[in-house]
Amino acid sequence: MQIIQASYKRRQTSMGWVSEQFICAFLVGCTFLSVLSHPDKVIGGGTCGCPLAATLSQGARVLVLERRGSPYTNPEQINIKNFVNSLADISPSSFSQPFISRDGVLNSRARVLGGGSVLNAGFYSRASSTYIRDSGWNETLAKDSYKWVEEKVAFEPPMLQWQSAVKDGLLEVGVLPYSGFTFDHLYGTKVGGTIFDKEGNRHTAADLLEYADPKRISVYLHATVQKILFKYNTEKRRPQAYGVIFKDALGVMHRAYLSTKGKNELILSAGAIGSPQLLLLSGIGHANHLEAHGIKVVLDQPLVGQGMADNPLNVLVVPSPVPVEASLVQTLGITKFGSFIEAASGLSLGHSWSERLQGIFEFVSNQ
Ligand SMILES: Cc1cc2nc3c(=O)[nH]c(=O)nc-3n(C[C@H](O)[C@H](O)[C@H](O)COP(=O)(O)OP(=O)(O)OC[C@H]3O[C@@H](n4cnc5c(N)ncnc54)[C@H](O)[C@@H]3O)c2cc1C
Repeated sequence: MQIIQASYKRRQTSMGWVSEQFICAFLVGCTFLSVLSHPDKVIGGGTCGCPLAATLSQGARVLVLERRGSPYTNPEQINIKNFVNSLADISPSSFSQPFISRDGVLNSRARVLGGGSVLNAGFYSRASSTYIRDSGWNETLAKDSYKWVEEKVAFEPPMLQWQSAVKDGLLEVGVLPYSGFTFDHLYGTKVGGTIFDKEGNRHTAADLLEYADPKRISVYLHATVQKILFKYNTEKRRPQAYGVIFKDALGVMHRAYLSTKGKNELILSAGAIGSPQLLLLSGIGHANHLEAHGIKVVLDQPLVGQGMADNPLNVLVVPSPVPVEASLVQTLGITKFGSFIEAASGLSLGHSWSERLQGIFEFVSNQ
């Protein structure tokens, strides 16, 4: 974050275009942009996309396309005390896009460079060793990668009165053993990592772009991918992605094509909703469903967009007669029956919050 803020400036690009959102040498606000890129890798700019892009830029030319803006334009907005406000802000330029699932659950998804890490509760944990083994990951590489992330965005939380009381409560009801502060995923009660620093400033996946090679990476903001372009590879006998169509902030369409030389790829990291949505719009999904919407079928893959599950945004509010500190998830109870017990405090989840929720619900239902 420091490096990025230090290099905050307006800048003229080689295309003679001045960006308002210029934050880092390779961040480009996508307005009036008319350029055809030929990168080796094209990827989306969320929680997963940013670190992946930074890593890939060490050995390839990478283009990141993110549909919205930068999280650095207003640092106050991503301070811990504005967690609720940011999540509940559904104005057109906000980081939060509300939606309601088919079964009626209200939730939000991120629209900003850094993705969900700009909006979420900021709890940081490593995966369990069992998960790493079952996933077939290289354990040493996973450990090194965790350290790489933690150096930039993970902190030990301050543990004030409220979170300490939650810890004592969990121990009292038998969520044991107590492991103290650790990034590791362990049964019992623990104090986990947070992406908020001591001043309550949020550090996000976008900070991990500091690891990128500025000469090899371009990050286009306000660049919404509309469609992935496929051609049929006769040798491999399957469709192959060769580029994307994306829309800039003014609604002007552009194309970016993958380099034809060497190994190149398009990595879809547009989130749990955005990724299947883009596949469907690009012709990969249930053939009948696509045809019913007039989308040309590239690949009949009935499972795309099906079986989606998420933890819903349920809030149980306990009003306090005295002010409590603002804290998100710090203490965590990890039970053997599969539930995680966590609690936040002091986030102004009062009357105005419920009114706002109702407003959002009406807004989304009417769409
Ligand atoms: C309220 C809330 C609290 C949470 N709390 C925690 C927590 O404390 N700890 C934790 O670990 N996890 C938490 N999560 C979950 C976590 O944030 C997500 O699992 C994670 O961010 C998902 O990362 P992703 O890269 O898959 O998607 P995202 O981070 O959502 O990234 C997708 C990106 O793609 C962009 N995009 C989408 N479509 C397009 C398109 N067509 N063109 C260009 N760009 C596009 C989006 O704007 C977004 O930036 C929380 C989530 C929510 C909603």
